[in-house]
Amino acid sequence: MSIIYYVWFPIIFEFILKLTCGLSEIWSIWAPCTMGVSLSLIFSILNERFLHKRFKIIKIIYLIFIYIPIYVNISHIILFNSEISTNSFMSVFETNLQESIEFVAHFYSLRFLLLTILFWAVGVVLFLLGCNWIRIEIQKKYLIAVIIVTYPIFCFGDHRYKFPFEKLLFSCIEYKQDSIRNKELLNQRMNLNFRNIKSLVGSNRRQTYIIVIGESVNKEHMSIYGSALKTTPNFDAIKNELKVFSNVRSAHCHTQKALKGMLCFDEDFANGDIVTFFNQADFKTFWFSNQYTSGNCDGLIAMIGSLADVKEFINKSHYRTKLSSNYDEKLLEYLRKALQDKAKKKIIFLHLMGSHLPYSKRYPPKFDLFKGKNNDKKITNIAQYNNSILYTDYILHNIIDLAKSLHHDAIVLYFSDHGEDVTEEPDSPHSHVESLSTPAMFDIPFIVWCSDEYKVINKKFIDSWIINKHYKTDKLIHSIIEISRLISDEFDKKQSIFG
Ligand SMILES: [Zn+2]
Repeated sequence: MSIIYYVWFPIIFEFILKLTCGLSEIWSIWAPCTMGVSLSLIFSILNERFLHKRFKIIKIIYLIFIYIPIYVNISHIILFNSEISTNSFMSVFETNLQESIEFVAHFYSLRFLLLTILFWAVGVVLFLLGCNWIRIEIQKKYLIAVIIVTYPIFCFGDHRYKFPFEKLLFSCIEYKQDSIRNKELLNQRMNLNFRNIKSLVGSNRRQTYIIVIGESVNKEHMSIYGSALKTTPNFDAIKNELKVFSNVRSAHCHTQKALKGMLCFDEDFANGDIVTFFNQADFKTFWFSNQYTSGNCDGLIAMIGSLADVKEFINKSHYRTKLSSNYDEKLLEYLRKALQDKAKKKIIFLHLMGSHLPYSKRYPPKFDLFKGKNNDKKITNIAQYNNSILYTDYILHNIIDLAKSLHHDAIVLYFSDHGEDVTEEPDSPHSHVESLSTPAMFDIPFIVWCSDEYKVINKKFIDSWIINKHYKTDKLIHSIIEISRLISDEFDKKQSIFG
């Protein structure tokens, strides 16, 4: 078998780029190597079987199925710091021409141009030379055995290790499946209308409600809830300005189940969701998310978010990679813009990546305050989890600061979708798994900040809050409606934490 330059070049180019962008580790070099060996083997066999003339056609096919998908993926990495994903197709299919032009202009960079020229110039030269370098004498049967053993990993494993063409195809298929499911769900409730929605403070008041949905936060790791480690210094500093509810539990410990309950009436999308409710209440709705947008855990939540008047899903990574193309602070840019929007009544949802596994990927290096031990994975994991909480505290501090500048009726409500079991105990999974169901996976933070204007007009309402009330979040939609000072026939005060 020969090492063929133009076969290996795009594969190695992509791997080096992923390595430098932190999207791959050096040990995962097995993936491009297996891919290179597989493709070289196919080429060797085809070379032997076909005439030289026909082989040129095969090279063109290679260009289409390998070079172009790899180039698309490389472009995606340069533009979004993540590999191609379902979200990418969402951007392509749900964007009009004008938006696409603005988008390209916004992300265009010299680095992108230089890497594009480098990729195609070197690729084309190697194609024209078409020469073989080293001949390695390995019996083909051994190579075939290696490929048969490793190929299932490409097929069923991590999205990062799929073949380039396969990666594009899978993402596109997933996007189409999501679209069909979303359409069906929306068709089922086409005539959904909430009845008699009214504002308790009068519809002429300027109002901004910011709902921040956290991820996998165990309140026992927060100093505002008593943790000895100073993990929430910003919250601690404004403790007197906050209402910190102490007995809130999520009904489920998986994202979709938990959030479906929180954001839909009767835990069922068919009965209506929070975004549709506020749309019908004449609020301008905003949904900014740093979460994944497809798959069993995230697809439905992204669909609820996509019903908002203004929505942005900034995480372009595939959910199987467990990576994220942005830290949560990127959401602040979108929040700032939304706060400048002229609409009189606004509700803004921010869906954080929070403390989603792997914890070390959720915060920038300057938040690497708590240190683990080199040879103790569990301790290191806990330290990284605490760093992710520290970073979330910083994000929330920024959100509250922005809300403070509004000078009208405003609140920031923060809660986590579910908890996380992260202790030194030998059986602590450092995760959230419904089959284990430990209390730490359900106990969640629930914190409210209110503007002075809101406090004045709603004094009696706020005075009635019981902050140690036991509350399960499967009826949270009623709480969000009540804190936004709305009522309707569907609203049930008894189901609200504030009721
Ligand atoms: Zn979650």
